[in-house]
Amino acid sequence: MTDRLTIGVIDPEVLGTYGDTGNALVLSHRARARGIATDIVEIHLDEAIPADLDLYVMGGGEDTAQALAADHLRRCADFTAALRRGRTLLAICASLQILGRSYTDATGREVAGAEVLDISTTPQGHRSIGELVTAPLLPGLTQPLTGFENHGGATQLGPDARPLGRVLSGSGNAADHDGGAVDGACQGGVVATYMHGPVLARNAELADYLLARAVGCEVGDLAELDMPLVDQLHAERVRAAGVSA
Ligand code: GLN
Repeated sequence: MTDRLTIGVIDPEVLGTYGDTGNALVLSHRARARGIATDIVEIHLDEAIPADLDLYVMGGGEDTAQALAADHLRRCADFTAALRRGRTLLAICASLQILGRSYTDATGREVAGAEVLDISTTPQGHRSIGELVTAPLLPGLTQPLTGFENHGGATQLGPDARPLGRVLSGSGNAADHDGGAVDGACQGGVVATYMHGPVLARNAELADYLLARAVGCEVGDLAELDMPLVDQLHAERVRAAGVSA
């Protein structure tokens, strides 16, 4: 297990809707509480994204902003290759979309994605806005996941991507579901979701899943943290959505 963690925040100038960059602060706080030193490194649109950091976060963004980030990712082939080989990354909303094969924005323009996730996104014709609660499908997670969604895109998963959660309340990947409603996409070390929040402030289990993966241990090897406010926030958001945990 490493005792020092470098967390990359990718394109915070365009991908930070609803404070998504706070996910890096949560990871850093939970790591430091366990004696793991952290460095948070911002990587901007005009910079090459280093391929060897321990953990990355990417946030959500509006259509114009996310097109800039999509272009940036397509220029950083070493980084996207590292993701395909298993680097750990959390992606929110617009970032989920741009890591896929392609997405079509609200104006009908199809934008090539980074081809890290086996997903594609097309417009729903309306926006899904509101609280989203899911039952996690990622092994080891037991608590409902909660977040706030606001997106016009509907995302379809190909066979290589697995959903992050089964929707209990809200839309998730698509408002009109054939069969089960799901949110997010997981593939290798990439975990992507439509949940803003920041999602890790609301869902400590997910934060620890990413931390454990990045430091190279099992979640059970991380020391338990006593943070009652975090538990309170989680319980409150699940209750507010009218979902029984
Ligand atoms: N622009 C994208 C959409 O509306 C993503 C929005 C977001 O990141 N909240 O689907």
